[in-house]
Amino acid sequence: MPLIDCHAHLEELEDLSESLHEAKAADVGGIIGVGMDIESNQKVLNIAKENKGYVYPALGYHPWVIRKEEIETNLSFVRDHAGEGVALGEIGLDYKIKVKKELQWKVFGELLDIALQSNKPVIIHCRYSHHRAFEMARERGVKRGVFHWYSGPLGLLDEILEMGHFISATPALVYSPPHQAAIKRAPIERILLETDTPVSYQGKESRPKDVRISLKEVSRLKGLDPSVVAEQTTENASRFFKIPF
Ligand SMILES: [Zn+2]
Repeated sequence: MPLIDCHAHLEELEDLSESLHEAKAADVGGIIGVGMDIESNQKVLNIAKENKGYVYPALGYHPWVIRKEEIETNLSFVRDHAGEGVALGEIGLDYKIKVKKELQWKVFGELLDIALQSNKPVIIHCRYSHHRAFEMARERGVKRGVFHWYSGPLGLLDEILEMGHFISATPALVYSPPHQAAIKRAPIERILLETDTPVSYQGKESRPKDVRISLKEVSRLKGLDPSVVAEQTTENASRFFKIPF
């Protein structure tokens, strides 16, 4: 059963064509390429165009790269091109960085509004900001989101799931107890697999083929056969992003 890597920063790869080749060889059937800002969004759109039916673009504005004077141009770019992507992402909040919370809230709020207007799901980064990110989505009635690499409180996870959202599993499941706890708690019908390529796990840079590690770890934690997890998570991704499978 092919897997879908639901979160990869493909535009950051110097070995992109080799990585896509290896992913196909590892039976990765599709990849969601996520953007961070105008330049990265543009690259993601191009990569998707060159790999139609394999790479699906998501346009975003990552909290790490928010600069006050660039907010409006970034938001307009996402607004203008939202229809070309399968989701809005990577977007969200990060309380471990220096970007002012007020700016992060403004940007994330506007992006959630764009997602609603364009009827797209959202890929949410929520490091140390799980409650606020969830509240902002809830207040607006955003119901189709994936809380990327969820490692937050389990009580909040229950609320997130109750609202209809998903969480995604990364190769950090090999070593991260809070991430493992979340994946154990969430039903398999609400889990997507991803790599967050090219993030390094235990000193090794990831590539989309490593979504196989996410699969293996979810199977281990759930006590399910990998083929069952593969089939369910690919079906989840297909429904969530409205991509064929
Ligand atoms: Zn990411």
